Amino acid sequence: MDEDYDIVIVGGGPAGLAAGLYAARARRRTVLLEKGVIGGQISLTERVENYPGVEAIVGFDLAQTMLRQAESSGLMTHYKAVLGLEQADTLWGVKTNDGDYRAKAVIITSGADYNRLDVPGEERLTGRGVSYCATCDAPFFAGQEVAVVGGGDSALDEGMFAARHVAKVYLIHRRAELRAGRILQERVFADPKFEFVWNTVITEVLGEDQVEGVRLRELPSGEERVLPVAGVFVFIGHHPNTAYLRSLVRMDEGGHILVNEWMETDAPGLFAAGDARSNSARQVVTAAGDGATAAIAAERYISNRFPVE
Ligand code: NAP
Repeated sequence: MDEDYDIVIVGGGPAGLAAGLYAARARRRTVLLEKGVIGGQISLTERVENYPGVEAIVGFDLAQTMLRQAESSGLMTHYKAVLGLEQADTLWGVKTNDGDYRAKAVIITSGADYNRLDVPGEERLTGRGVSYCATCDAPFFAGQEVAVVGGGDSALDEGMFAARHVAKVYLIHRRAELRAGRILQERVFADPKFEFVWNTVITEVLGEDQVEGVRLRELPSGEERVLPVAGVFVFIGHHPNTAYLRSLVRMDEGGHILVNEWMETDAPGLFAAGDARSNSARQVVTAAGDGATAAIAAERYISNRFPVE
């Protein structure tokens, strides 16, 4: 039998948790569905230093605090994977791997997932030296040399965490200029454990049962060489988790959901917030702001569309 709610929230990152807090405080019967770990990408972020009012906090702890705050306001949390949505009359049907839900409004906050290098050896050696989370795995490489790939905030943030454990971090970037914010750049340039490998991409991850090195190609010369490392940490951006919504809502070419300033999609009663939406600034604070906006808009939609007789 379907479970009935006013609002179903899909995804438990900062956008979903903020939406849950606002929806629950509006006294709407609200459930948040999460398939993995609460917090999404921030649960894997070593330090968050740019959430206003919180000077510095471990990402996982920030997510747990957000969850406790929302649940104490009445938010329910179910650990289930959403497989699809469908419009059933004036309501939305939400299909999961473990039962179905019905809701007056749905807020999509399913965020984004990391990109892969897509080179030989990467998939085979994932969990055997290839990792997408230094915060989780760097301690396993204590005293060894590792490669970190990417030039954005994630590569630097996670690379600095790795540097605390390992002997050396080779920061491999396809250009000669980092994309990351200036403060993080200043810190890695001052860290003696970093060696920068510019204008270079990885073409293969080497090793039998464990990573033993990476094959590098310098751009544009095409010159190749092998760099012996015990681990490869990949931080080359993300893609939105929106495949289960194809054909239901308008998206941009990257699969981000198009919304207006109230986080409304082109489907009535369906809202999107955080990294899953188009033109997101992809910050914890903006995701949380989006989530609050979506919940306020959903509350208004429900009041107008389902007036109490
Ligand atoms: P990002 O900013 O998109 O950076 C991705 C990096 O990977 C770029 O340097 C890019 O190179 C490189 N790259 C992309 N595809 C590649 C490929 N196929 N091969 C090699 N390199 C490739 O992603 P992010 O670092 O994950 O950050 C995502 C968002 O989260 C950002 O808005 C960021 O500000 C935010 N964030 C914030 C914090 C913080 O504030 N502490 C921490 C983590 C993330 P190019 O530069 O050449 O494009």
